[in-house]
Amino acid sequence: MNRPLSDDLLDWYDRHARALPWRVPPGWDIRPDPYGVWLSEVMLQQTTVAAVKGYWERFRTRWPTVEALAAAEDAEVMAEWAGLGYYARARNLLACARAVAARGGFPQTEAELRALPGIGPYTAAAVAAIAFRERAAVVDGNVERVMSRVFDIATPLPAARSEIRARADLLTPTERAGDYAQAVMDLGATICTPRSPACVVCPWREPCLARARGVQAERPVKPAKKVVPQRRGMAYVGRREDGAWLLETRKSERMLGGMLGWPGSAWDRGEEEAPPPAPGDWVALNAEARHGFSHFGLTLRVLVARLPQGTEPQRGQFVPVEAFHPDRLPTAMRRVLEVARTSPLIADSEPIVHET
Ligand code: SF4
Repeated sequence: MNRPLSDDLLDWYDRHARALPWRVPPGWDIRPDPYGVWLSEVMLQQTTVAAVKGYWERFRTRWPTVEALAAAEDAEVMAEWAGLGYYARARNLLACARAVAARGGFPQTEAELRALPGIGPYTAAAVAAIAFRERAAVVDGNVERVMSRVFDIATPLPAARSEIRARADLLTPTERAGDYAQAVMDLGATICTPRSPACVVCPWREPCLARARGVQAERPVKPAKKVVPQRRGMAYVGRREDGAWLLETRKSERMLGGMLGWPGSAWDRGEEEAPPPAPGDWVALNAEARHGFSHFGLTLRVLVARLPQGTEPQRGQFVPVEAFHPDRLPTAMRRVLEVARTSPLIADSEPIVHET
């Protein structure tokens, strides 16, 4: 009988597994904490391991259990998430933590995990396999690439997904399903990389059909590139004479909902104009702030004003300088601040003291 492909990969994983803070190393007979596994998998969606490590450690320190996270204030969690992007994940994270805490802990099967708010097929399978050792086929972008190459799947994505899933399912072993899931992810992240895969050191170089046919660089076959739509808007960066910043908590139904940001137009609904959030001499800057979201690019005109003490804002509220943490703003809003800071009206200065 032929040796299963999963055995070759697991042998390789036993020697080359990446050491990651949320992982139990191969061969250790202890189960990882499902809370830590789930948190890492949510954070890792569309985000690199290098970017996630610090966030994962800060979340685990601040909220050591899923119950602690469930009891956190929304605004605290959103602020801690700032900079990690894809903020809907943070809202889903909280909804899921609260559902898990309410039911007394994480369910242990892929099907039950899938029923939790904000948990998709990938996360459900990953948590079931890694934390609970259920035989579940885990398919993310790395796994798609590896399967497309090993089986030389020439159908373009996304049509190829059903075949990729079926292949991935067939290869998943009954024993060590969690290690196997992490092994394929590691193979895709470190050896079978999107560009220049290191086939000479790959544990699957012999059975890999794309390598044998010399087409590994052409797999998976990507769909034709779509033109990314562009949106425009405006953002107001107001600063009071005592240094306080005029900010608002974005409405929950809007993009970056629940995050702190600069008042401005509803660019997520395509609106380019909005009245100033407070009376003042607003000055439009020459430079614009740009940010790429997953499904559109955004360019914001930036207007700045130094606002007198006693200004009554019509939108937002003044945040004292000592309570303002730019690193807790989402990236698009930090870009606006970078542009605004080029203006002397906004630059840090000693509070203005009026003569009496
Ligand atoms: S042999 Fe090359 S293309 Fe095939 S799975 Fe390994 S690294 Fe990827």
